[in-house]
Amino acid sequence: MIIDKVNQPIKVGVLGFGGLGQAAAKILAPKGEMIWVAAADHQGYAYNSLGLNPDLVIKTCRDRGSIGHLDADGTLSKNSIQDLVVNHSVDGYFLALPNLPNTFMADVAQQFIKSGWQGVLVDALKRTSAVEQLLEIQDDLQAAGITYLTGCGATPGLLTAAAAVAAQSYAEIHSVKITFGVGIANWEAYKSTIREDIAHMSEYDVETARAMTDDEVSALLDKTNGIIALENMEHADDIMLELAGICDRDRVTVGGVVDTRNPKKPLSTNVAITGRTFEGKISTHTFTLGDETSMAANVCGPAFGYLKAGIALQRRKVTGLFTAAEIMPQFVN
Ligand code: NAD
Repeated sequence: MIIDKVNQPIKVGVLGFGGLGQAAAKILAPKGEMIWVAAADHQGYAYNSLGLNPDLVIKTCRDRGSIGHLDADGTLSKNSIQDLVVNHSVDGYFLALPNLPNTFMADVAQQFIKSGWQGVLVDALKRTSAVEQLLEIQDDLQAAGITYLTGCGATPGLLTAAAAVAAQSYAEIHSVKITFGVGIANWEAYKSTIREDIAHMSEYDVETARAMTDDEVSALLDKTNGIIALENMEHADDIMLELAGICDRDRVTVGGVVDTRNPKKPLSTNVAITGRTFEGKISTHTFTLGDETSMAANVCGPAFGYLKAGIALQRRKVTGLFTAAEIMPQFVN
């Protein structure tokens, strides 16, 4: 069990309080090793060193538009991340923020570096080009005393890590094929996730998807009957497996189906790792997620497992940038 020097749980903040941020708050509530003390959305932040109440914070966010309106613990701010980070003590943050534009997460990382804050950051970034931007500042993260774990959601994240483990049976990896099925009842609960998925559709990119109004997104989903089907996506699982020395990035493919009108998964999420054993046999390991597990469970669970692993590194003064394919997540009790 990881408990800090004064025998206190790890103080965790969640940046971004949409679909994933709210699920993250609920996941942390029963934990003993972590305490949820901080959150920020685009209009404000909330902090309480003894822990925030997820139901109250979620209700405030829904009823009043921002967690900054929370009566006792809220602060309205146009620079919510900056103000929270410099004014309050947090050991590690889960960045449940949209990466819109595609440079946003790297900009947030730069903000942390400039603020002088030291601790652990974990993201659930998706695009290869977004991880490449973080690679460019890895020396700065290290010098700043920040332990940053990137790509720690479901894909990239849980499935990439599973591929890294499965690869150990082989002498050579031929392909890693990730296929995801996501079912959500209503696209508006995960607006950024859906916009970022639309950005992978032909005729769209990150900027066009970002610029779409909610009505335009709804109209597009009306045309597709709520389904977004994607293949050969730009997904950072490829660069993460390449950096981990497992295979070249062109052997990794990612695609899937998102149903925005039904919480039931349209297909079972899985990763298939094909390779050649030392005896010359070609085989495929397949790791399939349980259909009952939601996107939120498969993203936020691993994110906190990696945050706990990051805290262990940070306490050993190991700082810099790591990916979900090179560090084992630790289970948070
Ligand atoms: P969302 O749209 O539901 O919520 C985004 C939140 O971020 C909102 O609370 C918003 O107020 C806040 N925000 C936006 N700009 C901000 C700013 N400048 N400062 C502070 N807060 C700001 O988002 P979501 O659907 O929960 O998705 C979050 C991210 O998670 C997306 O980037 C998505 O791609 C990623 N994701 C990753 C995986 C994975 O498996 N790796 C899976 C699903 C989603």
